[in-house]
Order: sequence, then C-alpha cells, then structure tokens
Amino acid sequence: MIKDGQLTKEFNRKMTCITCPTGCQLEVRSGADGELEITGFQCRRGQEYARNEVLNPRRVLTTTVKIKGGALPLLPVRTAAAIPKGLLAKAMSVLANIEVEAPVHTGDVILADLLDTGIDLIASRDMDRASQVG
Ligand code: SF4
Repeated sequence: MIKDGQLTKEFNRKMTCITCPTGCQLEVRSGADGELEITGFQCRRGQEYARNEVLNPRRVLTTTVKIKGGALPLLPVRTAAAIPKGLLAKAMSVLANIEVEAPVHTGDVILADLLDTGIDLIASRDMDRASQVG
C-alpha cells in the first residue's frame, strides 16, 4: 500500500515481469525500514520493472484518433515513450477531441508534449489522402 507517497509496512504485491518472454514472477514487499524488497527476478531489468510498477507505473499509450480526408477514418497513434499510468484516462479524453488531416507519415508528431509529460504522440502508420489510394 502506498500512502502519501510512502510505502506502509503491510505492502506486499505479486506481479509478472513483462520485460522479456521469460515472465518471472516477482514479489515486492516493503521492509520495516520502508525499503522495497524485491524477489523473483533473474536480472536487473526485472528488479527495475518491479520498482517502477510500485513507485511510478508507466505505459505506452496506443490508440487511434480521427483523421480527415484519410483512406481510413481513424489513424493509429502511440506515445513515443511510456507515460505515467495515472494519466492514461485523461490522455484518452484529450485524444477523443483531436482530428488530424491526411496525409500523415509514420512517426509524425500528432500532439507534442502530451499533458506536459514531455512525450509526443506520434503516428503509428502512414495514411494517404483518400484520393491517393490505389
Ligand atoms: S526478470 Fe529479467 S529474465 Fe525475468 S522476465 Fe524480467 S527481464 Fe526477463
């Protein structure tokens, strides 16, 4: 349990590391001194994953936005890096009101500095104008 940004003594959480296909089963406990105790990892990346999942969980947001004049009505987009998990719902409501104009190329910045995270939302694929298809 995290209270006021501090881990309380009874904190104990199990999770699967998704950093690589091995899928190690991790356990995170808070010790008497408030320090995290992480077990079950086979490498340092898993240890870091568990720490981040508890203290600062982040996710890459993948979704679609409306596109005007495109070959398809929706453009797949993603954040260029993971953003705080707590911002995902707010980001989705912002993106619901966005409409871009075709053509768009993979990697084009659709929305810079999403929710002041310093991370851009970028196009995940090319999208020609409807008249340019075929
Ligand atoms: S702890 Fe290391 S080996 Fe295990 S799943 Fe995570 S990244 Fe892979």
